[in-house]
Amino acid sequence: MLFDKPETISLLSCQTCKATGYIGFSKCKECRGMSAGHFDRGNWLFWFYPLTRYHLSLAKARRIFNKVRFFSSIILWLTAWGWGIYFISRNLTINFSLILDPAYWLYLLSTIHGIGAVLFYAGAWILLYLWYRAIVERIKKANVERYHYGEYGAIKEPEEKLEISQWNQTKKIKSKKKINIADTFTDEALSVLGEA
Ligand SMILES: [Zn+2]
Repeated sequence: MLFDKPETISLLSCQTCKATGYIGFSKCKECRGMSAGHFDRGNWLFWFYPLTRYHLSLAKARRIFNKVRFFSSIILWLTAWGWGIYFISRNLTINFSLILDPAYWLYLLSTIHGIGAVLFYAGAWILLYLWYRAIVERIKKANVERYHYGEYGAIKEPEEKLEISQWNQTKKIKSKKKINIADTFTDEALSVLGEA
């Protein structure tokens, strides 16, 4: 045999909710929504992301809503700045010899007023909001754990070795030792999973 026989992973899967985490619209009482879990290196790794049809369509609707909101904001921003620039440029003469000077730009900003200024600053706010949304939507909520493969064998296995075979045993695990694997997935990854 070329390969070692892989160790069997002791995965605890909830039979009550068939590892979906939910029964109907409410969280499964047996696993408290954790659906499936595995205890390793002192951590309880579980999967808290409802995979029922209802929750998947809800997540899909939320993603569509986010996209609609994103594109409407872009249109609002372009409209605000488009009209803003139109109103501002009507009574503004730009000195092109100073165009590369940041101080000149600050001076120009201080001269804008009226409807042009309102539209310009509204557009700037929408742009900041879009930037914020772009960051939030790409954020991963957690890391599983750092594991240094280079030092494999050198690290001592944690003292804590638990055999979890019942869901009520998970109540005793400290909350910082509980890691939701679904939190480490990006939105795109979760949507692919939902489709599957
Ligand atoms: Zn369950």
